Amino acid sequence: QPGLYIVATPIGNLGDITVRATETLARCDGVACEDTRVTGKLMKHLGLSKPLWRYDDHAGEKDRARLVAAMQEKAVALVSDAGTPLVSDPGYRLVRDARAAGVPVTTLPGACAAIAGLTLSGLPNDRFLFAGFLPNKDKARREALEAAAKADATAIFYETAPRLVKSLETLDQLMPDREIAVARELTKLHEECRTGTAAELAAYFAGHPAKGEIVLLVGPATDEPVGEHDVDALLSEALQSAKP
Ligand code: SAM
Repeated sequence: QPGLYIVATPIGNLGDITVRATETLARCDGVACEDTRVTGKLMKHLGLSKPLWRYDDHAGEKDRARLVAAMQEKAVALVSDAGTPLVSDPGYRLVRDARAAGVPVTTLPGACAAIAGLTLSGLPNDRFLFAGFLPNKDKARREALEAAAKADATAIFYETAPRLVKSLETLDQLMPDREIAVARELTKLHEECRTGTAAELAAYFAGHPAKGEIVLLVGPATDEPVGEHDVDALLSEALQSAKP
């Protein structure tokens, strides 16, 4: 079927490719991808060979228009180097344009580092805020951390290894009591998830420099998740007060 297929790919462990993703990559007419070498390797692993069309952060309106035109007649899969396309990865404008052009768009969910990190961390997950990559500049990074702290939810950031200790030190200045998690190399051989205060984690990673890919999570100010009982109590309270 012609259209746009948003296909999640593994974030490290190739076993995480879904059956639907594999079938779709096998059936599609071509794959729009960030880096043809990276996707080429995945296709090779799956024993597939399809035209690969580069679609990265530098893609412009013309590239999008060409792809959207192709989707009118062809099945186009969109993948990123790893994980779920559009999540801190290209694709948002492509999906918007495809939808606006009336192209059928469907999604094939799968691995996403933010969700994998959240589930592994043990931090409250009834409310969470995904805030993408922390900015590079000190001031902007501090502001991003402060803003997330106000959200009354677990905040999830993508982080880089060289910056980790600095971010943890900033977190220690801003919120020394929060529970923090560093989830590293998820689904890979050296998967690791450490929790503690920012000071504890900063000290640990200063002595054991982190390598690889990192998700940084900041727990909410109150660590009591809204449990089922609380929801029940809130509901009956609301119903009581609604009675005439
Ligand atoms: N679209 C991807 C997803 O669904 O997770 C994210 C792409 S973003 C460009 C890449 C960042 O995601 C990395 O710098 C890292 O912060 C995080 N990430 C990706 N794979 C990871 C992994 N296996 N373990 C920990 N973090 C990971």
